Amino acid sequence: MKPMKICILSSEIMPYAKTGGLADVAGALIGELKARGHDVRGFMPLYRGVRDREPSMRALAELTDVGLRLGDTSYLYSVLAGNFPGTGATMYFIDCPALYDRPGFYTSDADEHRRFILFTRAALETCRRIGFGPDVFHCNDWHTGFLPLYLKTIYSGEALFERSRSLMTIHNIGYQGVMSAAALDDLGVDGIRPLIDPEDLSAGVVNALRTGLKYADVVSTVSPTYAREICATELGMGMQATLLARGEPVIGILNGVDYREWDPRHDPHLGAHFDPRDLAGKRENKRTLLGDAGLTVDPSRPLIGMVSRLAEQKGFDLLMQVLPRCLAEHDCAFVALGSGEPRYAEFLEGLVRRFPGRAAFSGRHDEAMAHLIEAGSDAFLMPSRYEPCGLNQIYSLRYGTIPIVRNTGGLADSVRHFDPGTGEGTGCVFNDYDTAAVNWAIGTTLSWYADAPLWDRLVQNAMAQDFSWSRQVAEYEALYRRESDLAAVSSSA
Ligand code: ADP
Repeated sequence: MKPMKICILSSEIMPYAKTGGLADVAGALIGELKARGHDVRGFMPLYRGVRDREPSMRALAELTDVGLRLGDTSYLYSVLAGNFPGTGATMYFIDCPALYDRPGFYTSDADEHRRFILFTRAALETCRRIGFGPDVFHCNDWHTGFLPLYLKTIYSGEALFERSRSLMTIHNIGYQGVMSAAALDDLGVDGIRPLIDPEDLSAGVVNALRTGLKYADVVSTVSPTYAREICATELGMGMQATLLARGEPVIGILNGVDYREWDPRHDPHLGAHFDPRDLAGKRENKRTLLGDAGLTVDPSRPLIGMVSRLAEQKGFDLLMQVLPRCLAEHDCAFVALGSGEPRYAEFLEGLVRRFPGRAAFSGRHDEAMAHLIEAGSDAFLMPSRYEPCGLNQIYSLRYGTIPIVRNTGGLADSVRHFDPGTGEGTGCVFNDYDTAAVNWAIGTTLSWYADAPLWDRLVQNAMAQDFSWSRQVAEYEALYRRESDLAAVSSSA
């Protein structure tokens, strides 16, 4: 099959910058699509510290000190090229110290929207100047939401992009890039007001994600269930009408995971390795985890783990009621790793004080600890209010750590409720977002744990699941192909 030209834009890309699953998906697509023979170009901002991570980075003479005016301010940016690790796909880093040389990848600064408007414009301008006309511009989340509009306005006369299609992927519809309508001037598009959602304008705002969803040729999200939920329920967070107005379904492609990094057979973060035939290493990791976390329970007792952003989305308002009761009623232990909202960190610290030796919490970002929790826990708790895809429950399956999840989004698409009668299923899945349901799910999982042969069957089922990138990348590849074929048909018509 003919190789395609693919441009992937993301505000974060592994291994350069990561705060969540978006970085993993973008990195995997860039690496894997290149390995399949496509001409893949990745784009991201050159945040502080990123230069040190890519030794191959070099300046592009034709893209040095390029001027761009956003509203009343003129910026200069340069573009540095580098080779993506492993496969050597080309990465372009947009270097604009005035906007990106800051302590974090994301800020609450007044010019936050300009950081991503400039990123999007610079990516298009780079393609134009180097003569790269992609079959598909793959935009990810609100940061790249204005690209589809730019293709249909500023760049509409550009022959190079005549056949280029745009794909907008929603990784979390809760983050929309809502900015003051004053930002319209920064977009640099003549006669822009009629092109922007009138309700947003009358509320005095512009919504970057909504603009992307309106003008993209195709829209996708990171699981089939979330694709349905955001169109049909309040989980669309105000985007339902925009999505329905497109007249075609949102495509759901479940994220894959990188088993080179997340596999108990060779995980470099673990002191002991294991596989489904021999789980002695899992027990050893449990002992290590108990020791490292300061948990003093007998290793035969069930250990429930969590690795999570401390955010409302992840179900912490329920856990504040459920966990104290769970530890009071059940002879089990609990370990959590995560950073985020202080009120949830304070709750977890309080839990540790109330149940010394049985509850542990670390508020750091700690990659090694995340792997050890996946490997050493018996069950993994993820009671999310909503979850576009979620990665940790998929890691848990591979590590034989039974996921306890709510029946929503990617959790619903990756975990099947276990039926002790038939021995089928991979975890504990509950429906309602309330404390009774979480209590029920934890109690049920612990009752399965008490029955060793049943638990072993469940662990075997979980470890046999395969959610590797290859399936996911093949689905994106097929979608790009469909769009590129459609573009060919419409341009020859
Ligand atoms: P989200 O993107 O909504 O945060 P995901 O489950 O899709 O949730 O991805 C979260 C990723 O971040 C996982 O790879 C998880 O292991 C990692 N992670 C979250 N918090 C921490 C932490 N404190 N330390 C290490 N890794 C973390």
